[in-house]
Amino acid sequence: MSIGQIAKSLRFDPFPRALSADPANSPLKSIGFQLWCGPMENVEPIKLTDHIISHKDIETDALQVLSRLHDYGFYAYLVGGSVRDLLLQRTPKDFDVVTSAQPDEIRRLFRRCRLVGRRFRLAHVIGRRGKVIETATFRAKPEDDREALLITDDNRFGTPQSDAYRRDFTVNALFYDSGRNEVLDYVGGLEDLDARILRTIGDPVTRFREDPVRILRAIKFAARLDFTLEEETRKAITSERTELAKAAIPRIYEELVRMLGGGAAERSLQLLNELRVLEVLAPEIAAVCSLYPEPEHCVLHRFMHCLDDQFHQIQGKMPNGLILTALFWPVYQAISSELPRAPRPDEQRILISELMRPMALRLAVPRRSMEMAISTIEGHLRFKRINGRRSGRVGFARTPNYPMAAVFATMRREVGDMSTNENAAWEQQLEEFPPPPLEQPKPRRRRRGPRRRR
Ligand code: ATP
Ligand code: MG
Repeated sequence: MSIGQIAKSLRFDPFPRALSADPANSPLKSIGFQLWCGPMENVEPIKLTDHIISHKDIETDALQVLSRLHDYGFYAYLVGGSVRDLLLQRTPKDFDVVTSAQPDEIRRLFRRCRLVGRRFRLAHVIGRRGKVIETATFRAKPEDDREALLITDDNRFGTPQSDAYRRDFTVNALFYDSGRNEVLDYVGGLEDLDARILRTIGDPVTRFREDPVRILRAIKFAARLDFTLEEETRKAITSERTELAKAAIPRIYEELVRMLGGGAAERSLQLLNELRVLEVLAPEIAAVCSLYPEPEHCVLHRFMHCLDDQFHQIQGKMPNGLILTALFWPVYQAISSELPRAPRPDEQRILISELMRPMALRLAVPRRSMEMAISTIEGHLRFKRINGRRSGRVGFARTPNYPMAAVFATMRREVGDMSTNENAAWEQQLEEFPPPPLEQPKPRRRRRGPRRRR
């Protein structure tokens, strides 16, 4: 039997339907699932003036966008993650603005501005310092429930209140009015922020069914901010986890790599396991964790801990290929140890890619990240065979994937995943050929205009 056939016969996928559903045929669409829109009456927000937000912590470009919108008589607030992070004394990743100005009005106010988004038009304003400030108009509640799920055009504009209710978690729906230096809260976000609780806005079952990706966002935020998941939110994550099959797969992949590449991979994996989301997303990884009496004892947890260390060392620019390698290496080891015979060197790559293929398809992993992970794993297996020969080691250090293989070697050494010999060989290699710093690969430049025919 070829190693490819062996690998195919070894594939296990206890949830073959998981993540394979076509979102276009989602049953939610045909039944016009009820969207949660919040109470209908006008609610006055809680206003907080005594807070720690200071203008010096806000991107100048964002402040300028806000102040120009105010000058022209529009309401405009900082919103979402930036307000949450500023109140938690964390550095926000980006500064989003929400306003009563409509997209065309925003475009007229800013010279460097483009309208984006098919489903919901919003503006990307490029500030004087070159930062892109995402500027959206307050969203309205959907007119009828079917419309919201069959959305092709979501351009109905609303009020700060309706906009707050459409957001995912209470702590993500706070507005900051830079003119009045006031935080506005329509959903109880300030109280939850104080108590460090992550809670959906409205009924969690409904909110997760509306958009199952929120399940992953809940885990990501709870892990990253070290917040407790509110009890009903927590229960709904487990009860609704298979809804993830109805979400657009690229969004799932995007959230997963953000979750694991954001400095809280260990805690995220723990929650993914505990809440049984991992078994839906990556059953092969869940199966490897389940080999241990306590999932935390699995080497994967230690790898995630190392990923978090890497995140701090490389200041947040975590290559997705490294995340995939750390996730898949324990799976590769568990499966390859069960093989009836050791793969020959020329079969190794086929084996790795065959074993990773189900995960790659399930999560729509981009080919480039997949290639990086496969080459890193293959590099580690190849390094063993070099057996200390200098010419082999020099050649290996010149391969394009060496930096990633070297970082992964540091991780394997840290988690105690190497034999004494392998450890010593890598120590020598890393000393003689220290790898250049890791970089997140630059996105490929898209061709502008139609392709020319040859
Ligand atoms: P981060 O620090 O990771 O950027 P964030 O809270 O800013 O966290 P984003 O993904 O940038 O998260 O989204 C910005 C805001 O848009 C969120 O804070 C939330 O209010 C809203 N949002 C994003 N995704 C959803 C969703 N799936 N459902 C409802 N609201 C969402
Ligand atoms: Mg953000």
